[in-house]
Amino acid sequence: MNNKKRTGVSFRKDLAPSLSEPVREGLIIAHHGVAVEVLFAGGENCLVRVKRRSGHVVGDDVLVRGEVLERLPRRTELRRRDAMGKVHLVGANLDVLGVVVSPSPPPPAGFIDRVIVAARAANLRPFVVVNKCDLDAAQAFVEELRDTYAGAVSVFPLSAATGEGLTLLREFLGEGHRGAFVGITGVGKSSLLNALCPEIDLRVGTLNEYNGKGRHTTTVSTLHSLSDGGELIDTPGFQDFGLVDISEQDFACHFPGFEKTKEARCRFRNCRHHTEPGCAVVALVARGEIRAERYATYLEILPEVV
Ligand code: GDP
Ligand code: ZN
Repeated sequence: MNNKKRTGVSFRKDLAPSLSEPVREGLIIAHHGVAVEVLFAGGENCLVRVKRRSGHVVGDDVLVRGEVLERLPRRTELRRRDAMGKVHLVGANLDVLGVVVSPSPPPPAGFIDRVIVAARAANLRPFVVVNKCDLDAAQAFVEELRDTYAGAVSVFPLSAATGEGLTLLREFLGEGHRGAFVGITGVGKSSLLNALCPEIDLRVGTLNEYNGKGRHTTTVSTLHSLSDGGELIDTPGFQDFGLVDISEQDFACHFPGFEKTKEARCRFRNCRHHTEPGCAVVALVARGEIRAERYATYLEILPEVV
């Protein structure tokens, strides 16, 4: 997709803007299916109607003239494939992606790795949030994750319930990052968002006045500003994380624990690092420079990459 191209969407021809109307630059902070909420520099919000398949997402920078919305080029785009194989655009112009895990329920095999690869391939910085650190089982779980991932990404152990460890995550996001969380149901993503953005409930009130319906029945996705800086996009239903359009080469070089493969020269340029002769990655595994566990997980996910 050519994301340099500007996409103008006017939802009714007879509402074409008069040239005298001012053009204002804004940011899409909520998507309600048939309308998007745009935040302007002065802090003012407005709702602009859009076609259902307009392709606009939360995080998009837009120009608004009257009722016409024009999308500005995106810095990043994050896509995911759901369990049914359908591709979704999660958000635009994100900087970081947090994979939220907990000791209970534990992450499915390869889940953290897929999210890290997808984030890196989309030019987002991935990080790991380990929630429910108040549970007894948490300590061993955190150690295990640190052991596997700390060399590749930041790991934030915390408890949304007690607030322990939240400060470090707030500081990280406060460095001006726009992020989103992904994690399976039950790990505590909603609890974490509530702990980080206490103003969520305030915004529900304003939206209810507009359409008479609750936020959760209409909003697809919302962007929240954090009091210490940074922004979070809340995407309901963001649980499965299938890879989208990842080449075999990108998969290997973005795979956590495979950082050393960037310098590795395999005999074949399109080596999948599996059964090919002269594979430099297999040699790194044999010498213990890539851990056997990392390589086994790589091979498990490899068939998903086409
Ligand atoms: P989501 O499905 O990822 O949005 O998870 P929820 O936020 O709905 O939380 C799922 C369950 O985990 C709820 O019963 C929460 O009370 C519980 N939970 C969330 N955060 C914590 C935590 O830090 N510690 C503990 N012990 N439980 C938590
Ligand atoms: Zn190879």
